[in-house]
Amino acid sequence: MMSGSNTQGKSRICAADGLAIAEAAATLRGGGIVAIPTETVYGLAADASNPKAVAEIYRTKGRPDFNPLIVHVADREAAQRIARFDGLADKLADAFWPGPLTLVLPLLDGAAIAKAVTAGLPTIALCMPAHVVMRSVLMASGLNLAAPSANRSGGISPTRAEHVAASLGEAAPMILDGGLCRAGIESTIVAVRDNGWQLLRPGPITAEAITKVAGSAMIGAAADKIEAPGQMASHYAPSKPVRRNA
Ligand code: AMP
Ligand code: MG
Repeated sequence: MMSGSNTQGKSRICAADGLAIAEAAATLRGGGIVAIPTETVYGLAADASNPKAVAEIYRTKGRPDFNPLIVHVADREAAQRIARFDGLADKLADAFWPGPLTLVLPLLDGAAIAKAVTAGLPTIALCMPAHVVMRSVLMASGLNLAAPSANRSGGISPTRAEHVAASLGEAAPMILDGGLCRAGIESTIVAVRDNGWQLLRPGPITAEAITKVAGSAMIGAAADKIEAPGQMASHYAPSKPVRRNA
């Protein structure tokens, strides 16, 4: 299927037209994985209810299995079948969904979510992306999609289809090409607790914007255990020097 080494992965990059979206949806329904653009970065998606499909994400990324995945949903109804929304969660979802905010919420008993998605946590990370390609695949497949960034674990999150192909190499699945991702950094992650909210990962939606909507500042700094990648000693591991906010 693949030819010369400089075309590696390239043959799997598809313009995200109606036909490719239908094929991606069929692949996902069949338990396969597909790389899909969102407004933040490219995600490596699988049916969140299918343990084998979710295992394929971890295998393809070389991701440690204690690092849980974000589940992407098409609408609020789907989100409410997975997690418990209290007043604060509803406010945040009303204000920022669809968009680059991930909410960590209590997982509902009996939700159709493979165990590996949450890595055994009693909570789940949910987002409702705004990107037209991701939304189209969510709607065409009728699935909730677990989707971490579409790169080898420890690498930089991809903002172009070509980056996905380069990072995953031979293991790359079908890649829907949506051009450059607008935000270019991962979603803001906010945990909604009984007594307020915590910022688990900074991102496109600022703590100030969240404070305004929540009506309260974030509660005390992070939990004592690692819950989001930004809290680990090593998360971004670029091979070149990096300047932040330059
Ligand atoms: P990535 O998809 O690579 O951007 O990473 C998603 C991140 O979301 C994970 O590394 C997690 O640490 C965070 N996350 C996912 N589920 C949870 C959860 N239940 N509680 C806290 N953080 C979570
Ligand atoms: Mg990542």
